Amino acid sequence: MFRIRSLAVAALFGALTALPGAAFAEGEVNLYSSRHYATDDALYKEFTRQTGIKVNVVQAGGGELIQRIQREGENSPADLFLTEDAGVIGRVHLAGLLQPVKSAALEAAIPANLREHDGHWFGLTMRARVIMYHKDRVKPSELSTYEDLSTAKWKKRILVRSSTSAYNQSLVVSLMEADGVAKTELWAKGIVANLAREPKGGDRDQITAVMAGEGDIAISNTYYLGHLLKDAKAGEYAKLGVFFPNQGDRGTHVNISGGGVLKHAPHKDNAVKFLEFLLTPEAQKVFAEANFEYPVRKGVEISPTIKAFGEFKADPLSVGVLAKRNQEAVQLMDRAGWK
Ligand code: FE
Repeated sequence: MFRIRSLAVAALFGALTALPGAAFAEGEVNLYSSRHYATDDALYKEFTRQTGIKVNVVQAGGGELIQRIQREGENSPADLFLTEDAGVIGRVHLAGLLQPVKSAALEAAIPANLREHDGHWFGLTMRARVIMYHKDRVKPSELSTYEDLSTAKWKKRILVRSSTSAYNQSLVVSLMEADGVAKTELWAKGIVANLAREPKGGDRDQITAVMAGEGDIAISNTYYLGHLLKDAKAGEYAKLGVFFPNQGDRGTHVNISGGGVLKHAPHKDNAVKFLEFLLTPEAQKVFAEANFEYPVRKGVEISPTIKAFGEFKADPLSVGVLAKRNQEAVQLMDRAGWK
């Protein structure tokens, strides 16, 4: 886990002006969040400073929070659900737990494919799932698409985490959308055949395994490398290359961290205000930079670490489908023998 000094966050907010129309409203807002970043706390404090609205947070895993809200029913104190995966916030919506929100500010700030069209949930930050490779053993000219990773030239060279990862499930949905189910199942079988080892650990572990020579390429979200670089010695990852797949066609698969207002929210207006606050340019900068993610709002600076990976074209797929077809993807990976 990482830490960002609150001093740095305070500095980022130095020039921040108060939200229009949000001047010292009374009350509180209750967040149920599966995010767990120190910088989120700094944002909560800043929101309270600007609006007078107190932020209470319950943190747990996505599945656990969904169960808790279902158990609490109409008496749930939860106003806002925050997650770090499109599949999870989509599942909260499919379970009927969210209410639609109409907000011109949110609609203007977030591209249409990164929010639910009736306002049930909104993308807050974006992450890209990319190929990372060892420069001594792979030339970037050998890399092209996710599809290519299932060809025989990558036999026993790929490192990727297990099929229980929401990130892999979402990636598989994006392939099903682009190539169809039958082709994607063959692809998943090809990936299994090309694994350098049985899936274990998280994205970070796949990257460090490439550096240790256990395989030649890893599939990982970009921000995990951001965290590794932050704690690394100078030059430690100089041999690691970042490749954005499918730039010649649909673009690289992206996922979101998202939020939605709960159906029985006791403080709905405050929850909407909080979402709008998270989409201000200043909050987007802090919110995205601290976890090395991409802001969803255009024109907001990204972390120099992430910027150095290069610009890329993102798959314009509506991320709502990542939740809708999640079970199908899980079953497909199971049939393919992806552990
Ligand atoms: Fe993650």
